[in-house]
Amino acid sequence: MSRTNDLYNNLKRVKERVERAANKSGRDISEITILPVSKTVDVDDVETIMEFGLNEFGENRVQELLRKYEYFEMKNNNITQTDINQIKKPSWHLIGHLQTNKIKYIIDKVKLIHSVDSMKLANEINNQAEKHGIVMPVLLQVNVSGEESKFGVDVEHIFDIVTKMSYLSNIRLKGLMTMAPNVSDPEDVRGVFKGLKALSVDLQVKKIHNIDMSILSMGMSHDFEVAIEEGANIVRIGSSIFN
Ligand SMILES: *Cc1c(COP(=O)(O)O)cnc(C)c1O
Repeated sequence: MSRTNDLYNNLKRVKERVERAANKSGRDISEITILPVSKTVDVDDVETIMEFGLNEFGENRVQELLRKYEYFEMKNNNITQTDINQIKKPSWHLIGHLQTNKIKYIIDKVKLIHSVDSMKLANEINNQAEKHGIVMPVLLQVNVSGEESKFGVDVEHIFDIVTKMSYLSNIRLKGLMTMAPNVSDPEDVRGVFKGLKALSVDLQVKKIHNIDMSILSMGMSHDFEVAIEEGANIVRIGSSIFN
């Protein structure tokens, strides 16, 4: 019971922080989606958060995403026809680095892939999506800060890769994602979030077919207020909810 209370209070605090950041920057909270990142916790915590009304979760590893996905599939298979209205399955977002050989396992199980970081990966997602007869929504992960250790496409290659992606008919680019460097003062990464927003506006005005820039996935537990102030509409929150 106290775990439920903890999660409730954590989520409440996160919502308050989101609201404050939205108010500060004159934004409507309805524009901002909290994506709980469940990578460090088990399915019981996911179920608790679902009881609080959130239904989409981020995972950064394919294997862990599949494990949780299968749990909810099994659980719902065991529900009889009479409790049909009890069926509850979360939607999954893959937010971590994706290897091309793993795409086939998740292609029909995720709502959005946040972490497309190469043309090779985009091509392979497109191939797998075609096999399944679906159009896969994706985000392009951008390395705004130019840090060598981070995944993501360098800013100078973005226009080129976005243009190429627009010709892939089984993926649909919905926006951009970034991970800011881990710094103690989130003000130090405001420029990263500003940079991603500017890039998304620049791409939007080019009106490339098959591309929209409606999603900006940026901000984590320690920096999401700044990200919201700079235009984030999905914030990926792990430790502030699940610790
Ligand atoms: C773990 C993770 C998050 C959440 O990080 P917290 O600091 O725990 O909020 C967000 N995005 C990605 C890609 C992650 O791997």
